[in-house]
Amino acid sequence: MLRNYISNVWAGIGTALVGMKITWSHLLTKKVTRQYPDKFHPVRDKQTPEFLRNRLFVDMDLCIGCMICQRNCPVNCITIETIKSVKDDPDAVKPNGDKINLWVNKFDIDFAKCMFCNLCTEECPTNAIYMTTEFEYTSYDRKNLYYRFSVMTPEQIESKKKLLEEEKAKKAAAANAAKAAESKQEDKKE
Ligand code: SF4
Ligand code: SF4
Repeated sequence: MLRNYISNVWAGIGTALVGMKITWSHLLTKKVTRQYPDKFHPVRDKQTPEFLRNRLFVDMDLCIGCMICQRNCPVNCITIETIKSVKDDPDAVKPNGDKINLWVNKFDIDFAKCMFCNLCTEECPTNAIYMTTEFEYTSYDRKNLYYRFSVMTPEQIESKKKLLEEEKAKKAAAANAAKAAESKQEDKKE
């Protein structure tokens, strides 16, 4: 009984010494604690892989509203809505001088669903959507992970919708007038 007790005590002391050996060996080695983010930041200190996939960004000056990215997204986390631009709208010009054919009145990405597969960026014809180095955007509320990229104001959206409706109405009236003129001519022939 006593012999067992003493051997258990020795085993305990031996185990503690083995554990302490590892601790003591680290006392003299170089410290590896990194004071993130004050003194060490993976992106700033170029410690991230070259093709890192982080939060997406959409440059709305380049986006043409083609919806390829929305169609490519396997988890449906991109939602795009567009309004057709009317023929004579003087505002329908991009900063680079290209004509705007579609106004992108909605371009939302739900980052709570995004799995950073990169499929949305690969086929974008204008490179408007791309992965950034931003990875620190955790939130206590899922709603904060819903990002809206369209820069159109509600007033602009209303005005572009109205212009389109007016153009449609004009086209319909012109088509009706052409039909009426055609049937008048047919009546005269008879
Ligand atoms: S694929 Fe590119 S251009 Fe087309 S809607 Fe998406 S971001 Fe815009
Ligand atoms: S990275 Fe993948 S999951 Fe995320 S928005 Fe793009 S296509 Fe969708």
